Amino acid sequence: MKANLVKILQAMGLQRVLLPEHKMRSLSRSKNVDNSIDSDSASMKTALSVVLDVDSSNEPEPSEAAYLSWLKEHPSALRSFERMMKAARGKRIVVFLDYDGTLSPIVNDPDRALMSDEMRAAVRGVAKYFPTAIISGRSREKVKEFVQLPNVYYAGSHGMDIMAPPNPVKNSDGKSPPVSLDKKGNEVLFQPAKKFLPAIRQIYAELEEKTRRIPGARLEDNRFCISVHFRQVKEEDVNILREMVRSVIAKYPDFHLTGGKKVIEIRPSIEWNKGNALEYLLETLGFKDSSDVLPLYIGDDRTDEDAFKAIERRGQGYPIIVSTVPKDTKALYSLSDPSEVLTFLSRLARWRRASSCSSRSSAQIWGLGD
Ligand SMILES: [Mg+2]
Repeated sequence: MKANLVKILQAMGLQRVLLPEHKMRSLSRSKNVDNSIDSDSASMKTALSVVLDVDSSNEPEPSEAAYLSWLKEHPSALRSFERMMKAARGKRIVVFLDYDGTLSPIVNDPDRALMSDEMRAAVRGVAKYFPTAIISGRSREKVKEFVQLPNVYYAGSHGMDIMAPPNPVKNSDGKSPPVSLDKKGNEVLFQPAKKFLPAIRQIYAELEEKTRRIPGARLEDNRFCISVHFRQVKEEDVNILREMVRSVIAKYPDFHLTGGKKVIEIRPSIEWNKGNALEYLLETLGFKDSSDVLPLYIGDDRTDEDAFKAIERRGQGYPIIVSTVPKDTKALYSLSDPSEVLTFLSRLARWRRASSCSSRSSAQIWGLGD
């Protein structure tokens, strides 16, 4: 097969095109490429990459080779799109999205992690057709402020603070999911860590006092958890900062530390994570015991692994990791960066819209037929 491809490439005058591997990767995984690619052209690109690799005198960097090998285990959700949607026939897709590094780029100043208008339009498009939830480590209010979309479920503090949208997407039977309302007609919040709030406030005040001695250290109040960002802290100060945080938390046995991208997080020690939030939201949507629900979760960080594991436990669904480097993950599929997430979400909405033109397909999507 490789020999044939070499011949084809020679016929195309491409035999001397030897792109560095990272350029080939960005070419084949670029946001500009996917909108119309089908599986054939995707295979061709993969094959082309393989041939170029074989012919190239520049062997791929070890990290690049590792990435390509990892991609085989966690294939691109863009290239696998047709196959994924084929398997989704007769199932109900529910979309779960992380925020930082998934819908927005990772930036130095956490307050500037803004979502682009294009991404907002893409999420809006998806939420129009599928129940959609955003599960973030940030405070629910902050995520909502960034996303600014109605009809989306917001789960902040790693799922410890959940609120349903005013007008949730209807289920296949035309009914809205059962969401409890308070006396004012607002949705009831779900806050499993509420009793920890006084201690969290106390920890925050102590950390604020101590960490101000470390230039660049940045505290973020996520309501039910606290983030200590050290992206802008000098390397020699990072361990001092870690020790500071540890010494504060040592006095609070009900709390523990977790890590993320250049961030230390202080969380109450309860059995509640993004995976529990995913299960809770599915239950809220009326899918608790449903065997035909297909949760699709896109996230880039260690805390998203809990949600990937929850999908694994359910035995069906699409866990998708956002990463440009190989990572130990429970995700089945991958996307390289937020621009690929944007393409994927746009494609998902387009697929659903196109399917709805055919009542048969529409029935399939919502589990009304096969
Ligand atoms: Mg993230």
